[in-house]
Amino acid sequence: MPLPALPTRFDGDSAPLGVDLHMHSTASDGALPPAEVVALCAARGVWLMALTDHDTVAGVAEAGEAATRLGVHLLPAVELSTRWHGIGIHVVGLLPQGARGALAEGLGDQARAREARAEEIAGRMEKIGLDDALTRAREQAGPHRPLGRPDFARALVAAGLVPDMATAFRKHLGSGKAGDVKAHWPALAEVVGWVVEAGGVAVLAHPLRYGLTRRKRGQLLDDFSAAGGQAAELVSGFQNVDVTRDLARQLAERELYASLGSDFHFPGGHLAPGSMSPVPRTAVPPVWMHPRLAGVVATGCDAAAPGAL
Ligand code: AMP
Ligand code: MN
Ligand code: MN
Ligand code: MN
Repeated sequence: MPLPALPTRFDGDSAPLGVDLHMHSTASDGALPPAEVVALCAARGVWLMALTDHDTVAGVAEAGEAATRLGVHLLPAVELSTRWHGIGIHVVGLLPQGARGALAEGLGDQARAREARAEEIAGRMEKIGLDDALTRAREQAGPHRPLGRPDFARALVAAGLVPDMATAFRKHLGSGKAGDVKAHWPALAEVVGWVVEAGGVAVLAHPLRYGLTRRKRGQLLDDFSAAGGQAAELVSGFQNVDVTRDLARQLAERELYASLGSDFHFPGGHLAPGSMSPVPRTAVPPVWMHPRLAGVVATGCDAAAPGAL
């Protein structure tokens, strides 16, 4: 069955598009194996998806097989950890040609950086009373995937040092806290370069979630764009429509394309694949109109009749 066509622009129709370009699996800090994320997409009417695990494409092959079986279109992708003026910034790479060249090498570097960083986070968590922190975080993660802050958060909860994940992040692992170790990540511009060189589209992930003022966010978008970044997530999960309109202005000023995604990690929360605020009418073009993604999906349907061929 042919997949539906996508609108060439956002004209304010609030019907779901069936697109989610930001989701996680057990290849990073998500709860579901890649094939189950795809199955959930299929069940929820999400037919264009990107699996964006943190710093790895290890889940993409399994997701690709499931996608073929279930009639979902999967864009190979990754969410890369970077550093910009002392702030941890995430870049989604949409990779129609997969991870290759400098990006493939960069992913190896990221895995090693994550290991070194986990050791440093462990040292800091031991100072606040979590003995054998690395072992405990590994117990939470299981044997296969690279460690991240959520594993340390779960270990803090399991040890009874904090009541829940939210408190673990607020007190010990969130932005600016002891466990927020960013020094190991490469500079934003370098990572954008990897994605662009691999034939991909570099998307600034969730620009509203770094606690930046509008002015500082503008500087981030300037630097991202100057480095070759082509898009930003105009909508990430649920957000206020006035905030979205304002962000759209910042994207338009820099001629960036708009991506969108749920940042889904686990079922049972307030987010599921495809759940996100609608995109208001805007002149900012959808990321699937970027020449590098043209031909990957069909476009041209009237947004008033989403899904029409
Ligand atoms: P890392 O990739 O190791 O830096 O871990 C970052 C991940 O931690 C994010 O992608 C989220 O999945 C998770 N995270 C960040 N902040 C919070 C929070 N306040 N509560 C729960 N999970 C969070
Ligand atoms: Mn995550
Ligand atoms: Mn992120
Ligand atoms: Mn994410």
